[in-house]
Amino acid sequence: MSDSISVQTSTEDIYELHFGYDLSAELEEFVQHYGSAKAFLMVDAFVLKHHRTHFEKALKSHFNELHIFEVPRGEQAKNIEIYKQAVDFVLSEGAERGTPLIAIGGGVTGDLSGFVAATVLRGLPLIHIPTTLLAMVDSSIGGKTGINHHTGKNLVGSFYQPAAVFADVKYLETLPEKEWVNGLSEVLKYGMIHSPEILEQVNTLIKENTFVDGKSWLPLIQQSAKIKVEIVAEDVLEAGKRAFLNFGHTFAHVIEKQGDYKLYSHGEAVYAGMIAAVHASNSLGANIDLSNLMQFKPLYKLNLNEVKASPEELVYLMKTDKKVKDEQIQLILLKELSSPYVYKVSDTAFVQRAWEHTL
Ligand code: NAD
Ligand code: ZN
Repeated sequence: MSDSISVQTSTEDIYELHFGYDLSAELEEFVQHYGSAKAFLMVDAFVLKHHRTHFEKALKSHFNELHIFEVPRGEQAKNIEIYKQAVDFVLSEGAERGTPLIAIGGGVTGDLSGFVAATVLRGLPLIHIPTTLLAMVDSSIGGKTGINHHTGKNLVGSFYQPAAVFADVKYLETLPEKEWVNGLSEVLKYGMIHSPEILEQVNTLIKENTFVDGKSWLPLIQQSAKIKVEIVAEDVLEAGKRAFLNFGHTFAHVIEKQGDYKLYSHGEAVYAGMIAAVHASNSLGANIDLSNLMQFKPLYKLNLNEVKASPEELVYLMKTDKKVKDEQIQLILLKELSSPYVYKVSDTAFVQRAWEHTL
């Protein structure tokens, strides 16, 4: 069972995003066109332990040599030291220009491996096999790769498009609920900024209690990915519309930072950030029903009372963020559901009120 979406990033570059349950046959067929007898695999440690036979089955028939680099679990793998180890591994095991590098894991593995692929020999063919909900609907699409720096997240990286993406929901069978919820925030985001019917569909899936059942999530995953593809295709290098994907994220970043990136997951912070963004939108004249988001509250363990900073301090953190220019905070707000716009604000009292309503 499979389906695909074509992604065009420039007039020459088109790649396919494949979706389905067990994409072994599609993957096996795709890799046939590589002349190389070897491939490099960068695989999340958990995925390597639990799904190794699944991906090896598809790759072994074509490649005589699979060189596997195990990516440690967690955000700390996106660091310069692991990047260096991976580059050393790939070069010392004899990578050549056409040797493909296959990233199998969540967003951490994808971002790190993508950056290795982008930089080794000025570019190895890259295949993404996202294994988390977040990676399937978000990080494997759009070509952003990179690692963190001690002064901030994702500060070293490049835009580098894959040759193909295989979103095989069979991997999701082992995904813990916490990680489903983490990725769910991005799905809800697509519902808020683009396709409100997604919110209803998520509601139905959750009532049926179908976390872990990747198959029933497949249509929603595909629809979400398609929205990201569309937005990114119109703005490959992030000059305009792509900013809409940051809905909830300007608020979220300070929550994550305030919790030292440990207390709150990205998804939890984005969920809270979207609530703040709805409050902010409504105070500027929109009339968005907050229950669009609040109906999912029971899934989120985040207790906003635990956010120790005051609304005033959170605004200060927003204003002093590295990406802020001239103390103007850039927010993505909604005129109504599915109508996002960019709002640059120096009136911090207004942002503070949005926090007060949220916390
Ligand atoms: P992750 O890669 O850390 O994966 C989360 C956890 O799930 C890890 O512990 C991992 O071992 C485990 N895991 C992965 N697949 C599994 C499976 N099938 N079954 C069981 N466990 C599994 O995190 P993530 O949420 O996938 O990605 C977050 C990262 O993505 C962040 O670093 C973020 O900056 C990045 N990101 C990048 C983009 C982009 O455009 N490049 C967009 C959004 C997020
Ligand atoms: Zn996000």
